[in-house]
Amino acid sequence: RKRNIRNVKAIFTDDMLTVMADDLNVEMNLRRALDLDEFELYYQPQIDCQSGKVIGFESLIRWNHPERGLVSPVEFINLAESTGLIIPIGEWVITQAFQQLEKWNVNKQVEFTLSVNISPRHFLDVRLYDFLKQSLETYQVNPKNLNIEITENVAMEGLTQVQYRMSKLHELGITVSIDDFGTGFSAFQYLQHFPVQGIKIDRQFIRDIAENEKSMGITKTIIDLGKMMKLNIISEGVETVEQWEILKKLGCPQLQGYYFSKPMPLKEIENWLNQYQH
Ligand code: C2E
Ligand code: CA
Ligand code: CA
Ligand code: CA
Repeated sequence: RKRNIRNVKAIFTDDMLTVMADDLNVEMNLRRALDLDEFELYYQPQIDCQSGKVIGFESLIRWNHPERGLVSPVEFINLAESTGLIIPIGEWVITQAFQQLEKWNVNKQVEFTLSVNISPRHFLDVRLYDFLKQSLETYQVNPKNLNIEITENVAMEGLTQVQYRMSKLHELGITVSIDDFGTGFSAFQYLQHFPVQGIKIDRQFIRDIAENEKSMGITKTIIDLGKMMKLNIISEGVETVEQWEILKKLGCPQLQGYYFSKPMPLKEIENWLNQYQH
């Protein structure tokens, strides 16, 4: 028995205690960040591949940390998900998105779409449907202009659960897209079983599409398949005009990437739209 206790002690190294303390700290800080309004949405344009025109934006969260400056979502979204804080954070994101979409689209001839990232845990939570329904009643927003992006991980929770959640969102008129398409092993099963309206081709295939015939072949296949299934298709991570040209030839409907613009804070968007030539 004594030996066991000694072993347990040995397992908790100083490093691990530091890691756990850090996690607790981050959780407290995330909570505080919500209260103090330290999160900010950046927006990256989504482009019509044939014409080059802006069709909408994807919102991407940032954390304006008082000491660390701008913190990337890859540093805190997973932790927010594991603590459950992802629900209030996701609701904050949705509210911002609705407010922005209303500003962009009310009394305008050209309507923008807005894509919002929702974590698997939030996607599977009953509160998501209610919150979206409520938001649709509060803001003058056409639900077809709101798109929810989810990653393939969501499928780990089981087919019927995910299908049910998706069908509830369809009732509201909101579309759902699969993010990072092609990176999970279940990509085809996903299309077979889930009623999604769009896919985003992961940038790992786009990155070397001009040099690597395999990447080009995979991308072409995904585009053809997506079109056959009447899905919206966006290629992510377009960084060069060559990539754009190839994707145009392959018939990809929509593009997103640094070639057009990095994600921008709201205050830069109007200027960017004014100087963007297309
Ligand atoms: P994602 O949804 O796949 O978003 C695309 C990421 O690629 C973004 O990173 C974007 O800035 C970056 N990106 C866009 N174009 C290019 C390009 O041409 N080249 C390269 N190298 N990168 C490009 P970001 O903003 O750091 O976001 C990282 C991830 O964090 C997102 O991946 C998404 O999974 C998650 N995330 C971001 N915002 C939210 C949010 O509001 N809620 C949730 N749950 N997750 C979010
Ligand atoms: Ca996304
Ligand atoms: Ca993605
Ligand atoms: Ca991603």
